[in-house]
This record gives sequence, C-alpha cells and structure tokens, in this order.
Amino acid sequence: MNLSALCYILLLMAGLTARTAPLGQLRSASQISRDPQAARALAWLEKNVGAINDEQARITAIPAPPFQEAARGAYLRKLLASAGLRVSADKSGNIIGELPGSNEKEVVMLTAHLDTVFPPETVVKVKREGTRFTGPGISDNGTGLAALVALARALREAKLKPERTILFVADVGEEGEGNLRGMRMLVENLKTRLKFVIALDGAGTDYVTTKALASRRIEITVTGPGGHSWSDFGLPNPIDALARGITRFIRVKVQESPRTTFNVGQIEGGTSVNSIPFRASVKVDLRSEQGSELERLEGELRQAMQSGVDEEVSAARAPGGIGQSGALEMNVRVLGVRPGGELPANSALLAALRDADTFLGNQSRLERSSTDANIPLSMGIEAISIGAGGTSGGAHTLSEWYDSTGRELGLKRVLLTLIGVAGIAPGDSR
Ligand SMILES: [Zn+2]
Repeated sequence: MNLSALCYILLLMAGLTARTAPLGQLRSASQISRDPQAARALAWLEKNVGAINDEQARITAIPAPPFQEAARGAYLRKLLASAGLRVSADKSGNIIGELPGSNEKEVVMLTAHLDTVFPPETVVKVKREGTRFTGPGISDNGTGLAALVALARALREAKLKPERTILFVADVGEEGEGNLRGMRMLVENLKTRLKFVIALDGAGTDYVTTKALASRRIEITVTGPGGHSWSDFGLPNPIDALARGITRFIRVKVQESPRTTFNVGQIEGGTSVNSIPFRASVKVDLRSEQGSELERLEGELRQAMQSGVDEEVSAARAPGGIGQSGALEMNVRVLGVRPGGELPANSALLAALRDADTFLGNQSRLERSSTDANIPLSMGIEAISIGAGGTSGGAHTLSEWYDSTGRELGLKRVLLTLIGVAGIAPGDSR
C-alpha cells in the first residue's frame, strides 16, 4: 500500500469516528463522485464556468455597502429561487434558500456574505479581460456569492436530494462593523438543528480557515469646549489629546506568539483648520490568537488614551474657565466583538474537506482568520471558511481583481465537502 492510500484510509477512519456525523452519513469523495446524481452535479459545474463568471460580474455590479445589502440581497433571492429553492429572508436581511433533506431535523449551511467594505459612493463597475475581472468586491465576495448560486443550481440540475437539509444563505454584516450580525441571527434561529457551516469567502483553494481569530473594534471619542484657533489658543484640543494617546498606545509591545496585532484604522473630527475642534474620534482594531492577550491589549488602549487626554488637559495653556481640567471628556464604544474558537481535530467537516482535497489532488493549509465561521466555532458548531476557486488580489481595495482560471477545482471542492457532510438521501426517499 502506498503512502497516499494509507493517508486516505486514515482520513476516512478519522471521518467515521468524528463527532457530528453518525455512521453512514459521512461519504468519501470518491463514493460521492460515483453517485450518478453527484457526478451530474460535478459535471454541471465544470461545464458552466463561463456562465458562473458572468453571474459573478452581475452580482458584483450591484452595490452592497455595509448595512445596505438589500438590493444585492433581492437579486440573490431571485437567483436562489430560480435554482428551485424555497427562499425566505430573515429580520437582519439574510437571504435563505432551502433544499430539504430526507432528514429535515439536521441542517448544513452553505453561506456567502453579501456585504462589501466599500461606501455607497464607490463605483462598483466590473472590467473584464478574458478570465480576469477587476472591480471593488469582485472576489470578496463576488466569488463566494457566484459559487453559492452555482452550487444550488448544480444540485438542482442533478436532482440530488441530500440527507441533511442544506440552506444556501447569502448573509449580511460580515465585514467590519457589520460585526457578523447576519451569521449571529442564523445561528440563533437554527439553534440545535445546525450541524455544519461552510462559509464561502473570496477565491482560492489553498487554505481552509478552521480557527477563528478573536477581535475587538473600539472607537474612542474625545469632546471638549472647542474654540477659535487664535483667540482661544491654549484650550485643550480633542485631536491633540487623541494624538497624545495614540502615540502612547502604538509603543505598546505585542506578542509574536500568540500573534497579537493592532491597527489605528480611522480618525476623524474637527470642523476647520482655524477652529479648535470640539470633537474627535479614532477607531482601533485589536486581534489576537488568544483571548487573554486581546483583553490585555484593550486595557492598554484604554489606559493610553486616558493618559493622552489627561496630559492634554494638564498641558492646557489657557488660564481659568473652561480650559481647566475636566474640560475634555473621553468616551469608549465597543463597535464589535468577534469571539474566537477552533475546529476540533476530529471534526467530520474537516475530514470531509481533507478527503475532497485528496480526491482532487489539491493541497491546503489550515488558517486562522476572522470570518463568518467565528460565530458557530465559538459555540462549538463545526464550521470552516474557504475560498471558492480561482485566484484574486487587492481585496478591500478599488483595484481588486479575480482570475477564474482553475475555478472548477474550487467549485468541486465545495460540492464534495458539502455533500460529504450533508450526505445523499437513501434511494427510496428521493
Ligand atoms: Zn469576505
């Protein structure tokens, strides 16, 4: 027996002893590929890459700024309905297409986030040269959304009925201050029925996110009396206070292991160059592989910013009146908390993905990242986030690009993993 055959058998055994999938429901990728319906679905994906690319360009051209995903959501609703799914929307704006399984008590969710990081005024036109597409959001998450619809269509065309119910979900609020609100609502509504989550995010086949990176986003606002730059010179200045605080904070030492990072991402305030501002604020992103480090860093941030304010107040040059101490006020607002978590090594979902990779001759590495999978992972529900094939670059910039070369590998990888955990309904219940 050669090494890869041995690995294959070990993987299968790992899958069969894994936690959530009872015996008989986990199927190996090679078994799935021999099922006539699944084979038809795989072939459909391969044949329709051109049409999937076209759909991706159309989806991307509909703006979906944070908290304004409704127009793109309505379009996805139409697409999922035309793929033969029963489609509904929940209160947060998630679009949910249901493919009932023979066992409707258990649910596998395939998701792709609708939102982009781009503000409403961004021009989201897509430029196309052969297999290469350029435009804001084309890959993150045009790729995931196009794959979501394609997978639904492929299963429909092949008349494949799964064992567990599959929900195809275009969800809201993945990026930034969206704070994973769409995924939070999905997990809350499905409760114990939800067994597996596969989040499609961007391009690629070379990684699988199994570890959820914990993060906190914090906004610090400083307010003061404000005044005229000349006649009120010496009054405490909120921008100066922030600058003093930021200068302290960015000197804080962070660990390489557990990897811990910070980013001062946005700063705003003031009204004109010749006014002492009455308000200024800064947004900071903190991340760590370890929750306790994240807490420590947040403490450092609060302390540094408070010291900056105190220093500015005590340095105020204006005598008496509102320039005295207490004239600056600092407010801390937590914009987002993304909990951490990790997929257990004996996860059935990871076994299914590994098996699909082996079958397709694909290699992928485990990654830690902040994605929609954070929410289920933090609650002990098996979840991964993966790319949906092809290659990309410049995510979150205006020059974002996507190249669909090799896209079919990514689509097949998703399908084999999805069916690996959803199963195929026994013949008599189809
Ligand atoms: Zn994304």
